Amino acid sequence: MTIPLLDVKAQHAPIRDEIQAAMNRVLDSGIFILGPEVEALEQDIAAYSQCQYGIGVSSGTDALLVALMAIGIRPGDEVITTPFSFFATAGSIARLGAKPVFVDIEADSFNLDPVKIAAAITPRTKAIMPVHLFGQMAEMDAIMEIAERHQMYVIEDAAQAIGAEYKGRRAGSIGHFGCFSFYPSKNLGCPGDGGMVTTNDAVLAARVRSLRNHGATVKYHHEMIGGNFRLDAMQAAILRVKLKSLDHWTTARQRNASIYRQYSTDATLTLPVELPNRRHVYNQFVIRTKDREAVINRLKANQIGYEIYYPVALHRQECFSDLGCKTGDFPFAEAAAEEVLAVPIYPELTEDQIQAVVSATSFTD
Ligand SMILES: *Cc1c(COP(=O)(O)O)cnc(C)c1O
Repeated sequence: MTIPLLDVKAQHAPIRDEIQAAMNRVLDSGIFILGPEVEALEQDIAAYSQCQYGIGVSSGTDALLVALMAIGIRPGDEVITTPFSFFATAGSIARLGAKPVFVDIEADSFNLDPVKIAAAITPRTKAIMPVHLFGQMAEMDAIMEIAERHQMYVIEDAAQAIGAEYKGRRAGSIGHFGCFSFYPSKNLGCPGDGGMVTTNDAVLAARVRSLRNHGATVKYHHEMIGGNFRLDAMQAAILRVKLKSLDHWTTARQRNASIYRQYSTDATLTLPVELPNRRHVYNQFVIRTKDREAVINRLKANQIGYEIYYPVALHRQECFSDLGCKTGDFPFAEAAAEEVLAVPIYPELTEDQIQAVVSATSFTD
């Protein structure tokens, strides 16, 4: 049995005709950048995420970048974020000349620990950028409380968490911005790059809308310096088709997670923790083991896909060496980087396949 980490072809098979009809519709319309398909997707994603506004952008990375630009982040500013995420989270901050200030993650959840935020705040701190890693939301009440007390913005990196909930509130709807990615491996992926910024603030929405198109609201009249962060109509049309299946896929991911929990008996493997008051959407099912090499060898021998998200904590990246962080500064993030292992969780996985993954990863079967 060969089990990939993700099977996008299996995902598209049942909706292939509908996707092709949407692509033909865009081809025939002759409108390829922004336009009515993008506007319709913006409304769909905003509604799905319990937000008033959605602004389609070119990627999840650009969603983060344009949100930071919209709140005026510039050289000398500091933005608090997690050292355990995809590079884009901290990269977007640094690209604007601002300083990513890392705060360690919680011991069990992989998400930013709000208890440690206060000690990292300085007069230059402008924003907090929590990440809802692997599909489970960060401790948003505590994060919002600190941000409000210090008049800071909150930008949710919701790239892995579309549809996730915290106390019934959707990812991207609690902070000033939610930033989503439609990269193929996300829960709602397109065949290319794409992203979305959500917000409930009309003024911020207008700024993002302008910035994604070179800072011009009226063509050739630039009130701000923006960039080309536009979403294209082909991706938007395909995403609208796929959005209709998202809840069904999420339910399948959650079912797969519970099958893993049912079959796993090896006490040397730690399964992902589900925190209270959450809807975990399982973009990834990330287990922890002190003996990762051995588990990987068994997965390889059984032709089972896996990935290490993420092998190097962000504060230890070469490009951030000038931040002056050192090994040992963020012990929970560093331990996670050494122990994590993502195994297949995609919706089309069968119970037999999950059992095969469990017996390949366990030493006590
Ligand atoms: C995927 C991802 C991004 C970047 O999204 P792209 O669409 O690939 O640019 C940012 N943050 C996190 C946490 C991600 O998983």
